[in-house]
Amino acid sequence: MADDRMMLLDETYVFGESAAMLARARDVIPGGVGSNDRGLVDPHPLFMSHGAGSRMWDVDGNEYIDYLLGYGPLVLGHAHPAITEAVGRQLRNGSVFGIPVALEMEVAEMLVDLFPSIEMVRFCQSGTEAVLAAMRLARAATGRRLIVKFEGQYHGWLDQVAISYAPTTEQAGDPAHPATVPGSDGQSPGAYEDFIIAQWNNAEHLEQLFAERGDEIAAVLTEPIMCNFGIIEPVSGYLNRLRELCDRAGAALIFDEVQTGFRIGLHGAQARYGVTPDLTCLGKALSGGFPVSAVGGRREIMDLITDRRVFHAGTYAGNPLCLAAVPAVVSELSRPGVYEQMEALSMRLRTGLSELIAPLGGYVQGTSTIFGTGFGPGPGASMRDLWHNDPEKVFDLKRELRIRGVFTKPTPRDIWYVSTVHDDVDVDETLRRAEQAVAALA
Ligand code: PMP
Repeated sequence: MADDRMMLLDETYVFGESAAMLARARDVIPGGVGSNDRGLVDPHPLFMSHGAGSRMWDVDGNEYIDYLLGYGPLVLGHAHPAITEAVGRQLRNGSVFGIPVALEMEVAEMLVDLFPSIEMVRFCQSGTEAVLAAMRLARAATGRRLIVKFEGQYHGWLDQVAISYAPTTEQAGDPAHPATVPGSDGQSPGAYEDFIIAQWNNAEHLEQLFAERGDEIAAVLTEPIMCNFGIIEPVSGYLNRLRELCDRAGAALIFDEVQTGFRIGLHGAQARYGVTPDLTCLGKALSGGFPVSAVGGRREIMDLITDRRVFHAGTYAGNPLCLAAVPAVVSELSRPGVYEQMEALSMRLRTGLSELIAPLGGYVQGTSTIFGTGFGPGPGASMRDLWHNDPEKVFDLKRELRIRGVFTKPTPRDIWYVSTVHDDVDVDETLRRAEQAVAALA
C-alpha cells in the first residue's frame, strides 16, 4: 500500500472543481453540506472523490493524509479489504430483512465478551440514537426523570441532548449551576427540561449536586474521556467517584463511548480506567465506517426491553449490511500489537506537532489514538479552562495543513484520529507539511 502513495507536492492545493460543485450543491443542499460542521472546512467545503488506506483524494485530484477518518469511524482506514469483503458478501446475500439474522447475535456476543459493562445489547444506526436509548432505559429502570449532562460534552444532535455542548462564556452561566444552553433554534424546551448541566472532572461539584438532588437523578451521562471540547482525560479517581455517587443515590451511570469505544482499546475506556458503567453507548469505530451504534449494559436494565416495558425499534436496527463490518473490525483490532503500533505513531505525531506549534503558543493534548491541538494558556481539565484558547489559530493551522495535504476535523474543537493503516511514512510527511504550515503562519 505504501508504494501507491505519492509524495505530496510542494505547492499548496487549488480547489476549482470543489468550488464549482459547492456552488451547485448550495442551491439544493443547505450550506452545500450534509452535516453542519462540514461547512466549516476552510477555505471552503471540499468534495472528496475516493479514499484508500490512510489517504483520500478530492475532486480536484488533491491527495490528503486523512486524520479526520470520517469523524472517527475509519479505525482501519478507507476501504479496508477485510471490511469491503465482508460487507460485499453480505450485500450479495441481502441487505435488510426486518427479522433477526445470526450475525446480529454473533456481534452481540462479541460486544458482551469485549466490554465489561455489556451483558446484553441492542443495535441502532447513530451514536445519537444509542444515547437516547440509554437515557430511556435509565429513566425506566430508576423511575426518575433527571439526567446529569456535562457542559462541553456532545452526545448527538437531537432535541434531548444537543444542549450545552459548546456554550460561550456569556451563555454558560454560574459555574456552580451551569445554564442549560440549547444548541439550535427550534429545539423544544420540553425535551431538555429534565437535564441538569454540570461541570466535568470536578468531583466536589458533583458531590454537591448529588447532595442537593441525588434522589431525583435517573442517570449521569458522560463521555469517559472528554473528546468534543479538547481531548481531556478524567482526573485520577474521577470516574470512580461518579460510580460511587451513582451507586449511593440509586442512579445509573451511562458511558457514552461513541468516541472512545474501539479507539482507545478493544475494551473501551471503561476497562482502561477500571470503572464499569451500567449502560454503554458505542458507535463510530465499532463498524469501521458504517451506520451502526449499540446500547448495552446490565442484564436487569436491558431486560426492560425484553419485558416490553421499554420501547426500542428501527427499520434498520441490527441491519446486517452494516453489522457485517463489525467482526472484520474486531478481528483486525485483536491482532497483537495493533494498539501499541497506533499509539506509538500517535505519540510521534503529537510530539512532533507540539514542538512545531509551541513557538506559536500551541500545544497538543490527548491520549492513545486521539488528540487535539490548542492555542492558549495550556491543556485544561474542563471546558471552561479552554475558553481562554484562541479558536482562530486552530482554524488557521487546519487550513494551512489542509491546503498542504493534511486533513483534520474542520472545527476549532480539534480532534485528530489515527488508524491501523497510518504509518511512519504518513507521520514523516505530516510533520514535514506541518513545518511548512507553521512557517506560513509565523
Ligand atoms: N456521542 C459522542 C461522544 C460523539 O462524539 C458523537 C458524534 N460526534 C455522538 C455521540 C453522536 O453520534 P452520531 O453523530 O453518530 O449520531
